[in-house]
Amino acid sequence: MTILHNLGYPRIGAHRELKFQLESYWRKETDRNQLEATAKTLRQQNWQTQLNAGTQLLPVNDFAYYDQMLNMSTLLGCIPNRFRQENYDLDIAFRMARGQAPSDTPHNCCGNNHDTSACTMKKWFDTNYHYIVPEFEADTEFKLTDTRLFDEILEAQALDTKGQIQLKPVLIGPLTYLYLGKKFGYKGQKLDLLDSLLPVYQQILEKLAQLGIEWVQIDEPILTLELDPAWQEGFKKAYQHLANSPIKKLIATYFDTLGDNLELISQLKIDGLHYDGVRGQAQLEQIIQQYPKDQVLSLGLIEGRNIWKTDLTAALEILKPVAEERGDNLWIAPSCSLLHVPVDLDLEQKLNPELKSYLSFAKQKLNEAALLNQALNNKQPDSKLQAALTEQAQSIAARKNSPLIHNPTVAERMNKLHEIPNQRPTPYAERAPLQHKKHQQKLLPTTTIGSFPQTAQIRQTRRAFKNAEIDETRYINAMKKEIAHVVEQQEKLGLDVLVHGEPERNDMVEYFGEQMDGYAFTQFGWVQSYGSRCVKPPIIYGDVARPKPMTVFWSTYAQSLTNRPMKGMLTGPVTMLQWSFVRDDQPRQTTCEQIALALRDEVQDLEAAGITIIQIDEPALREGLPLKQSQWRAYLDWSVNAFRLCTSSVADSTQIHTHMCYSEFNDIIQDIANMDADVITIETSKSHMELLQAFIDFNYPNEIGPGVYDIHSPNIPSVEQMVTLIEKAAESIPIERLWVNPDCGLKTRGWTETLPALTNMVKAAQILRQKYNSQN
Ligand code: GLN
Ligand code: ZN
Repeated sequence: MTILHNLGYPRIGAHRELKFQLESYWRKETDRNQLEATAKTLRQQNWQTQLNAGTQLLPVNDFAYYDQMLNMSTLLGCIPNRFRQENYDLDIAFRMARGQAPSDTPHNCCGNNHDTSACTMKKWFDTNYHYIVPEFEADTEFKLTDTRLFDEILEAQALDTKGQIQLKPVLIGPLTYLYLGKKFGYKGQKLDLLDSLLPVYQQILEKLAQLGIEWVQIDEPILTLELDPAWQEGFKKAYQHLANSPIKKLIATYFDTLGDNLELISQLKIDGLHYDGVRGQAQLEQIIQQYPKDQVLSLGLIEGRNIWKTDLTAALEILKPVAEERGDNLWIAPSCSLLHVPVDLDLEQKLNPELKSYLSFAKQKLNEAALLNQALNNKQPDSKLQAALTEQAQSIAARKNSPLIHNPTVAERMNKLHEIPNQRPTPYAERAPLQHKKHQQKLLPTTTIGSFPQTAQIRQTRRAFKNAEIDETRYINAMKKEIAHVVEQQEKLGLDVLVHGEPERNDMVEYFGEQMDGYAFTQFGWVQSYGSRCVKPPIIYGDVARPKPMTVFWSTYAQSLTNRPMKGMLTGPVTMLQWSFVRDDQPRQTTCEQIALALRDEVQDLEAAGITIIQIDEPALREGLPLKQSQWRAYLDWSVNAFRLCTSSVADSTQIHTHMCYSEFNDIIQDIANMDADVITIETSKSHMELLQAFIDFNYPNEIGPGVYDIHSPNIPSVEQMVTLIEKAAESIPIERLWVNPDCGLKTRGWTETLPALTNMVKAAQILRQKYNSQN
C-alpha cells in the first residue's frame, strides 16, 4: 500500500489570520497569549484539513510565526550576537526578522524602541517567498535553544487521543542551512561549521525519537543546484554522521531535477527521498529506475507551486508500475510544501466558474494527492473514487480545447512571430543624438522612476470606484486632478523628464493584468511572501491579448499639461510573468512573448499619441533565472528577446528606458546590455554605487541612471550626499551618459519627504551640470 503524506501546509490562514494577529501583536494591540492562541488554532485546523484528506504522515514544524529558516536558526541557537540573551524568547526571533520586538523598552533619550538592524532576507530559491538569512559569526556556537518544535509535537500528540496519527517533523537539512546562510565575521569556510552543527542535529533527532517519532523530513533543496565537490562531500559526511540516529530520515528535494546529485543521494545513509516530479520531470524516469528499491521513494506529481488541477490519469500511468514494484516504499505527496499556493479555492465566489473548475489550491491539491493514493491502493475503485477521477479527467480535457484559454487571433500572431523584428534598426550611438535633440536633453538630466506618493485619498478614491461607490466621471476627474498636481510639482522642482505619477495603479502587475485578456484575479488567493506579508498573484490562464490601449489616456493627458517630455510607464513582459501564476500548458517563453506583443502594441500607441520617452520596468528579470546556471542562457535569451519585442518598433528618436531594482548585475550584464534600452535606471544609492561596478567593468554602452536617493528610507538625502554619489558615478561613466534619479518609485513615501528630497536632487544635478559645463 502506498502512503499519503504532505511536505508542508500554508500557515498564514485562509483569511490571513496569522498576518493580522502578528501585526497587531507587533503594534502591541494584542498580547502574546492571543497570538499563540491564534497560531495554535491555525495549526490544529491545518492538521485537521490534512487528516480529512487522508494524510497518513502529518507535517509538524511547517508552521512558523515568521519563517521556517528562522525557526531553524532559533532551534539551533544560531542567534546573532546583537540579539542574544540568556533565555530564548519568541521576541528574539521577531527582533532577528524585524529589528525590534514588542517587548523592547523605549530608549531613554528618544522614547523610541531600540532598533537593531534586522537580519537580511533572501528569496527562497526561485519562489517569491523570502527567508531570513542565518548569520555565522566568529563566536557562533550551535546548541539546542528554541523548544517550539518539541512543544508542537506534544501539542499534536495531545490532539490524537486514539494514538493513531503519525507525525513527521520537518527540518531544514544541515547542508541547505549552511549553504543559505552568510558569514558575518566567521573566518573559516561555511562547510567547516558542519562539525559543530551535526551534533546538534543528532541531538534533535534523538529527542524526536524519544517523543515517539518514526520519520523525520529533512529538506535539502540545494540538491537541485549544481553543487561543487566540496558540498557533495559535505552531504556524505553529514548523513554518515546522522546515520546512527534512531529515526528514519526522508530527504526532501524540490524545485528542479537532481542532476548528478542523484548518484550522491543514492549513496547517502538515509531511508528515503522525496522528489519533485513536476519541476523535475526531466529526470523522473531515471529516479524511478535508479533510486534504491529498499528505500522509500516519495513522488510529488501534484504541482505544489502552481494552481492548476493535475492530470491524474497521466500521473497514475507513471505511478502504477512504481507502486507495483515498490509497494509500501512508494509515498505520494504534492511536489513541494503547499506554502507557495493559496489555501482554499472554495472561498472564491467571483471567479469565472469554468476557470475555477481548472484550478486547485492547497486544500484541493491534498485531495488530488489523496485521489492518486486511493487509486493506487484500491484494486477495484469504488464508484465514488471512479466518479472523482472521471470528473478530473473531463476538466483536464475541457481545458485543452476551451475557447476561454485559446484565442485564435493570438495564435495567428504567434505563428508569425519570427516575422516581427526584435531589434531596433539603428544602433544606440546613432539613435542617441536624435533623441537628445528631440527632447532637448541636458547634461545630467533629472527624472523619477514613475510613481509619486500614493496618499490615503488616492487609495480611497480607487477603492470607491472599484466598489462602484463613485462613477467613472468622478473617478477620472479625481485622477486627473492628482496627475495635474504631480505635473505641476515636477515643473516647480525643475525636473527634466516628467512622469504622471501612477495614481491609477494599485500594483504594477495587477494594473496591466486587469486590462489584458487571459488574466484573472482571485479574492483570497494570498500567498506568504515574507513574515506577515502576503501577495495575491494574478493567474495567467489563457492567451494574453490587449483589447484596447491601457495607459494612453493618462499619459497623453499628463503630456497635455506640460511642454517638458512626459515619460510613458509600462510594466515589462518578464515582470508580468514572474509575479503571476503562469499557465502550465505551454512554455513560459510563449506566455511571455504573448505579453510582449500586447505591450508592443501599447508602446506603438503611446508613441503615435506623442509620448516619445517610454519606460518599461523589469525589476523581476533577474528573479526568473533558473536554479541551475547551465540553464541561464536559454532563459536570458527569451526574456531579453521579449523585452526587445516590446520596443523594437519605435522611431530612432523615441527613447526607451528600463528600470530594475534589488538586482545584482555582474553575471548578467551582457544580457542587460542586449536589452538595448537607451536608458536604464537602477537602485544603487544604498550600496553607495557598488551595484554600478558591473556597468563600469563592462563598459556599458548606453545611458544609465544610478539611483542617488534611497526611497526605502524616510531620510532626506542632502545635496552634498547626492553630489558625492553622482561624482562617484561620473568618475567611471562618461557624464554624457549619466542620468540623475531616485532608486525606485516614490509611491510609499509622503509628500513631505518627497519634495525636499527631489529639491535636493535637482540642485545636486544643477551644481554638477554647471561645474562640468564650465570645465568644457
Ligand atoms: N514604475 C514603478 C514605480 O515607480 C516601478 C516600481 C518598481 O520598480 N518596483 O512605482
Ligand atoms: Zn524599482
